[in-house]
Amino acid sequence: MIKLDNSYLNLPDDFYEKIQPEAVESPSLIAFNFSLAEEIGLNIDSYSQEDLAEIFSGNKIIENSQPLALVYAAYQFGHPVAQLGDGRAHLLGQSNGFDIQLKGSGRTSFSRNGDGKSALGPVLREYIVSEAMNRLGVPTTRALCAVKTGEEVYRQDGPEPGGVFTRVAESHIRVGSFQYFAFREEFESLELLLDFTIDRHYPSLRSLPLHEKAIEILKAITVKQSDLIAKWSSFGFVHGVMNTDNFSMAGITIDYGPCAFLEEFQFNKVFSSIDQRGRYSFFNQSPMAKWNILRLADCLLNFIDEDQEKAIARVEQEIIPMFAMFEEKRFKAFASKLGLTDYSEADNELVMDFLNYLEENSMDFSLGFYHLKDLFVGDFKNYKKTKSLEDFVIKWKQRTPDLESSKEINPLYIPRNHLVQKAIDGVYAGDHSFFHQLNEVLSSPFIEQEAKEEFSRPAQGTEVVEKTFCGT
Ligand code: AMP
Ligand code: MG
Repeated sequence: MIKLDNSYLNLPDDFYEKIQPEAVESPSLIAFNFSLAEEIGLNIDSYSQEDLAEIFSGNKIIENSQPLALVYAAYQFGHPVAQLGDGRAHLLGQSNGFDIQLKGSGRTSFSRNGDGKSALGPVLREYIVSEAMNRLGVPTTRALCAVKTGEEVYRQDGPEPGGVFTRVAESHIRVGSFQYFAFREEFESLELLLDFTIDRHYPSLRSLPLHEKAIEILKAITVKQSDLIAKWSSFGFVHGVMNTDNFSMAGITIDYGPCAFLEEFQFNKVFSSIDQRGRYSFFNQSPMAKWNILRLADCLLNFIDEDQEKAIARVEQEIIPMFAMFEEKRFKAFASKLGLTDYSEADNELVMDFLNYLEENSMDFSLGFYHLKDLFVGDFKNYKKTKSLEDFVIKWKQRTPDLESSKEINPLYIPRNHLVQKAIDGVYAGDHSFFHQLNEVLSSPFIEQEAKEEFSRPAQGTEVVEKTFCGT
């Protein structure tokens, strides 16, 4: 029997709407992550596949579960939005402290003009990519279940099969959750949210006075997010929509809408069709994370000091200097990929030389790093042999790289866009085999697998995915 609690219910009812998922016609299970269920202590032994499809489509509500939709606000592409919220998601509760949330499970009072539903494509995409991220070692929400609803939803290209995704997360608290109450100047609720967040993610701050909690949580989030962005960067991950509603207080990757992995390397690569100015381009992810943390700081100023100027001065003195971590950790991550275990700032030049080489020669980001072991022994077959590469190799070897150390950082298999698309196309055509095969290959990203060349090969010709969509 599944048993869930729900700590959000301890918060006042202006934090959420209690609302049941909408029933769907004929749910069927496409994927269920049994090992994750075990990890988070979900006891599903007594359920059949049909039961699981019923539960994780929202048709059948587990006893004692009180589903709810959380409210939040955001800065979207730099502009404040006073109220958003789970417009197509229902939080069922928690198991071992992990939130379990259905996505695509129907309308709530935060749906605005949306239908509250999800097409199956984005469900499968999030399933594949979030589990791949976990296997790469990136903090992320996880995929518990993907269900086909048996209903159609209408999207820009016409009708598509509907789906419900079950997301597992350390929490669903976002910077946007703080902004909701800060925009409304509801400081009591804001303080409750701060304490709730500290209880769940930063318990060591519990006993501090309010003004210290506020400053310390900014420090803690700076540490977590700089670790996260360094990981994203080291795997060529472009999130695509780092608005503050998609910026987690737990420091995990959340919301796999228009995300994509780099193939041909470009510092300023953008995939998302709505990111027209490149705000969330690959290399702009660090500056944007800092910007988001400052938006959180805005919310907390009143707590830091009653005198606004003094509060701002504290942020300037104590938080902004910490932001250097973002660049430092990102360079360090790239240096580790080059096998440099004893990183120092002097290595930044070497890192930039290699990245510039990748960009100038339109090289595949992941394979460019993966094949460094060949380059080390003088084998250039996977590279365009240029003067700048030869110069790099000389300098690099002088630093005596240890490529054993970088094995677990330079994956051979990443969820390339065209592979994810092929998996979705397969399921749409009634064939689930490629979807499952892809998940299997991505579960061991660092080890070469037999007869799996297709999964490491970059997209060619018409396979190349130039633009991604939120898919909502
Ligand atoms: P996202 O772009 O997925 O982060 O979503 C931004 C906002 O739009 C959130 O408040 C979502 O709940 C809402 N939203 C996205 N898709 C839908 C949909 N199909 N129906 C209702 N609300 C949606
Ligand atoms: Mg979102």
